[in-house]
Amino acid sequence: MKRCDLILDNALIVTLDEQERILSGHAVVIKDNKIVDILKSEHAKSVYEAQEIYDLKDKLLLPGFINMHTHIPMSYFKGLADDLPLQTWLEKYIWPNEAKHISKDFIYDASLHGIAELIKNGITQFNDMYFIAEQTAKACINSGMRATIGDTGIDFPMGDFHLPERSFEHIHGLRQEFSEHETINFSLAPHAIYTCSKKTLEKCRDIAQEEKALINIHLSETEFEVDQCIKEHGMRPVEYLDKIGLLSDRLIIAHGVHINEKEMELLKRHNVSVCINTKSNLKLASGFSPIKKYLEYGINLCMGTDSVASNNNLSFFDEMSITAKLHKALNQDPTILPAKEMLKMATINGAKALGAKDKFGSIEIGKIADLITLDTASIECQPFYDPYSLIVYTMGNSAVSDVMINGKFVLKAKQLLTINELEIIVKAKEYKSKLEVLNGSF
Ligand SMILES: [Zn+2]
Repeated sequence: MKRCDLILDNALIVTLDEQERILSGHAVVIKDNKIVDILKSEHAKSVYEAQEIYDLKDKLLLPGFINMHTHIPMSYFKGLADDLPLQTWLEKYIWPNEAKHISKDFIYDASLHGIAELIKNGITQFNDMYFIAEQTAKACINSGMRATIGDTGIDFPMGDFHLPERSFEHIHGLRQEFSEHETINFSLAPHAIYTCSKKTLEKCRDIAQEEKALINIHLSETEFEVDQCIKEHGMRPVEYLDKIGLLSDRLIIAHGVHINEKEMELLKRHNVSVCINTKSNLKLASGFSPIKKYLEYGINLCMGTDSVASNNNLSFFDEMSITAKLHKALNQDPTILPAKEMLKMATINGAKALGAKDKFGSIEIGKIADLITLDTASIECQPFYDPYSLIVYTMGNSAVSDVMINGKFVLKAKQLLTINELEIIVKAKEYKSKLEVLNGSF
């Protein structure tokens, strides 16, 4: 008998592997933090001696969702200012509040709150852009969450923690400090081309090269941004990044709403990934990302929620369902973005964008055990004929039953195991009262 930690038994397994296999009557065997075997249930118990056998009857087992664009420490800004244009929202509400309130404690507490929300939405890793990255990293480590965390670069004052030189050069120190934590990675995160100078972006390019780091940037989110870029630099945003030398397979652009075909050719040539943030774009009326064209160009599309301040939740079920339906309607073509493709955007495509498709995004032997289970026993989930359809068009986060990250449960039978839910709710209310005292104007 071989020893293992856990056998996940009896689930309907949505592997999202290259053959797109859906397996019933199989077990997934976990040892340490990895999937070490996938075999018929009746064989599993005769081959493996497990510390725990977990029965997943009436559940789907799938790879965890990968949220590729977040600002997780903005949890406490949820609903603080809505129904405004992006620039007004940023300049009058978000940036002044950040300048006033962010501190090490704020970032840690708000991160933990956001992580609890991510877990309850079946998200097993996120790609973040915010300030004081080490505090978000600590919240991840204490809760068992996996993340790639970017310290935002921005060319104007905001508290003590924002200077681009500090942010970009800081990555080396952060990587050293957290080197023993395999669930934490750090990226470079220049906020946008309208908040970072050419000099700042060049610096980012050089440090990313040295560190072999991922770069996250908001790009072509609004028409205003594109017009400004043409006015200032005589070219469109993707062309501008190309000229600076920032385009590569380590670049992830968030939004990519206003991109023309010439820019798509550049993105494809350099293997840049695009992170689609449908609900945020809808709420801020930024426009509709050209998903159909992106797919024709073979560009890797992953998915993000953006912050809860512009969404206002972290639901990947919402993102998948709304994105699929919106683009069917826009293109007057119900066959585009089928449910299976949406689920790939939410999982394996995120892993590809992170340069980690060998580790995450599907259920295969040798991959890391970042897994979720979804409960199919409820009225709204019965009957079902196709698990992809069920996940994308029917389910919501109430279906999330178990979440495992790096081989360890962080949610089991719908209970958070690493975060005290009551404590973070109390803390959120405390922060709310502080924000209101300091911001009596709204
Ligand atoms: Zn964003």
